[in-house]
Amino acid sequence: MARLAERTTRIAGSATMAVTATVDRLRRAGVEVLDFGAGEPDFATPDAVKAAAHTALDQDFTRYTAVSGIAELKRAIGDRYRADYGVDYADSEVIVSAGGKQALFNAALSLFGPGDEVITHAPCWPTLPEQIKLADASPVLVRTHAEDGFAIGGRAILDAITPRTRGIIINSPCNPTGALITEDDLASIADAAARQGIWVILDLCYEKLIYDAVPHNLPAVLARRCRDLTVLCGSASKAYAMTGWRCGWALAPAPVIAACGAIQSHSTSNVSSITQKAAVAALTGSQETVRAMLDEYRTRRDNLWQWLSADPRLRCRKPAGAFYMFIDVGDVLSGLEPGGFRTSTEFAQALLDESRVAVTPGEAFDAPGFIRISYATSMETLREGTERLLAFVAAHAAPIRRAAAG
Ligand code: GLU
Repeated sequence: MARLAERTTRIAGSATMAVTATVDRLRRAGVEVLDFGAGEPDFATPDAVKAAAHTALDQDFTRYTAVSGIAELKRAIGDRYRADYGVDYADSEVIVSAGGKQALFNAALSLFGPGDEVITHAPCWPTLPEQIKLADASPVLVRTHAEDGFAIGGRAILDAITPRTRGIIINSPCNPTGALITEDDLASIADAAARQGIWVILDLCYEKLIYDAVPHNLPAVLARRCRDLTVLCGSASKAYAMTGWRCGWALAPAPVIAACGAIQSHSTSNVSSITQKAAVAALTGSQETVRAMLDEYRTRRDNLWQWLSADPRLRCRKPAGAFYMFIDVGDVLSGLEPGGFRTSTEFAQALLDESRVAVTPGEAFDAPGFIRISYATSMETLREGTERLLAFVAAHAAPIRRAAAG
């Protein structure tokens, strides 16, 4: 076989999607698995959204649309951000893409290239650094720490800026940590970006999943300081339980959107016409379902945290946003008898093999020693899976006494 392109040697397939694929494979083979891997809502897409898709089909709305999306949807996105954040984006400043993932990818390809450094924070969603690499730029990962709840510090990001810095990507709420960046921290980044002409990309995929009423008007912070350098990326996936529909968007200055549109015109063209009509209904209809899902996630988070606290070797804090518990299992790994598993990847594999519970190992997020539990799953599954996890740790780790003393 002839050799593959060099870029394929620089990237790895999505480690988060890999867990979903493993669970699928096992289930098809008849193995019952409790899935804490998938980062996707277990809720059904709201009825009103599904009804809009049915109507689109019935009306034969099944042809190509404009590459950047139908005007109705671009307006709905602009209106949503105006209502939620008080920022103003015209239709020419909005593009609809196949999930937040493609919106971010278009932005990376439009803005970054060889020799550029792009700063983001880690633990991070694995796709972010891989997309930077696919754009032939270099990711620079600024570490956040469990001790302070993985706070995304403005100072640490600023310290990572060099003359080659071309962009900064902030993901708040963050996947996998659930941490939020404060408006002040983002303001200091935005001021530096404005002074030095650095792009700021804000991944707002989990923007609707913030548990407490904390200030998080990040779009307004950027609009006031560096609107010309700002790209906002969002998604219908998590807020409206629409992962499979593939609908995300970017809001940015018109030349950036035009570049993203040109790239998209040669890759996927428009997002499915049916999906676009459904997304209009999601964005313009009652947001009550979003609140109801958030309330349910909060209850799950609180219960899960309570159950996990039964074993001090599973160290975690309640996340401020998103739907992931990011657990430090370092005490379990270090407290193992010889011959036990040494990494969180081995831990996750053994947990799957022995207890039939799928979690995502921290290595996926550049955070060895951690595991991520997605609690976007039913309370019943969470309860049963947590019991299995606790039993697994009790069976494999040294006694709690020793871990606490160490
Ligand atoms: N964002 C989700 C996760 O972290 C979905 C998987 C993906 O697209 O990476 O699990």
